Amino acid sequence: MFSSGLCKPEHKQKRVLTLGISHESNTFSTQLTQESDFEVLRGADVLKDQLWAEIFKKADIELIPTLHANAWPGGVVERSAFENFRKEILEGIRNAGRLDGIYMDMHGALHVEGYADAQASLIKEIRELAGKDVLISGSFDLHGNPSPDFVENIDLMTAYRTAPHRDGVETKARAAQMLIDALKFGWKPHIEYVVIPILVPGEKSITEVEPLHSIYSQIPDIAKIEGLIDASIFAGYCWADLPRSAMRVFVVAKDKRYGKVSKNEACRLAQQIWDSREKLVLDVPSGPVDKMIDKSEEYAGKTVFISDSGDNTTAGAPGDNTQVLDALLRHKSKNALMAGIVDPEALKECINAGIGKNIKTTLGGRIDNVFGKPLEINAKVLFISPDSVMNTERGAAVIETDGVKTVILKTRRSFVEIKDFKEVGLNPLDFKIVVVKLGYLFPELRDIAPVHLMALTSGFCNLDIATLPYKNVHRPSYPLDGEMVWKPL
Ligand SMILES: [Zn+2]
Repeated sequence: MFSSGLCKPEHKQKRVLTLGISHESNTFSTQLTQESDFEVLRGADVLKDQLWAEIFKKADIELIPTLHANAWPGGVVERSAFENFRKEILEGIRNAGRLDGIYMDMHGALHVEGYADAQASLIKEIRELAGKDVLISGSFDLHGNPSPDFVENIDLMTAYRTAPHRDGVETKARAAQMLIDALKFGWKPHIEYVVIPILVPGEKSITEVEPLHSIYSQIPDIAKIEGLIDASIFAGYCWADLPRSAMRVFVVAKDKRYGKVSKNEACRLAQQIWDSREKLVLDVPSGPVDKMIDKSEEYAGKTVFISDSGDNTTAGAPGDNTQVLDALLRHKSKNALMAGIVDPEALKECINAGIGKNIKTTLGGRIDNVFGKPLEINAKVLFISPDSVMNTERGAAVIETDGVKTVILKTRRSFVEIKDFKEVGLNPLDFKIVVVKLGYLFPELRDIAPVHLMALTSGFCNLDIATLPYKNVHRPSYPLDGEMVWKPL
């Protein structure tokens, strides 16, 4: 008798495991990044409100989320933190059963104490456990430095195409779609890349301005070339004194047959970047902090944002250097805001004194005691955040000294969006000068800032990278070895 279903081909739902350890590790910082600095998501929480997860689900792929850990840029990651994360991820793979793919949600500039290349050793173990037939796809920040050893074990990779970053969601979605397509069409992806010996800070590699605007604009067309899937340009992360710190181009092909065309495209972009290296400069006026404060007077009636670039907390610096606050007070600046200085002790003094009361204290210079020093200050407490009262990590207070307001923070964080100012009861556009511990302004501030100046302050994110005490980066590299000759191979 006929039995329905007997001849039906067996439909096996594809299964993709997900993981991530995302960190930009500043090797010059003296402050280690600890496990408690990471936000760790597991299980269903990983997939909540994520476009990439929706894309997988729509493609009828079963997701097996493991650990996704993400921390704000900071110093090198503590060995035990990385090893705990790694153990949990590898355990997840061991227990996952049959897998068709793995999605890695990464930054790409992770560095761990005691490891030459923790990212490479992690993916090597993942590959050994998962086997060679499981496709691994990864999404990255373009400020990552993924090494050749890392790339050896990944099949598909894609990075942000904007800095300041506006396309994080799209990039992760692209990594998901690439994996779905590769599984569907049976691709055996092949990656070609060129490492470009250039060390460049993010502030000199903004994709919205030339020369990189025209170069990044070519990526979508390269991805459309027959046989190719995607291309990425990594500006890299220069505040990591590591052999893998460099710019690089990756081109991903559907299989080895398109190796030559992908290599050609990677070399073509790399050559353009190399030829433009002297044009990788700041896109805003810059100079010593005193000059920048004087210069702000040229913009009558306009709010001037000044970046304290050496103590850029979005690139891993501690955020407690007081040199710009000291300069604002020396210049007797009026209606200026310093956002902010990390100092839990001073915050405690504000809370103990109370709103409207005066405090006399020393501020900052405790974490970065290489470039910073504590500043003696007399100030009136204007605001204490509800988080301070509840003693949470987001505790903050606002104090004022001679027309200069300062936000004191319990823990290291950055003012990158308008809501960060709102949280402490401030509107940045009410001030003449707003000092932020950033390099480039993040998109929301970049869009509203009438004027932006870059103060070239000292610190662990010094923009004058030739002055940094590099020992381990590849040599020769531009601009450390200015006269060097190089060709993409
Ligand atoms: Zn970045």
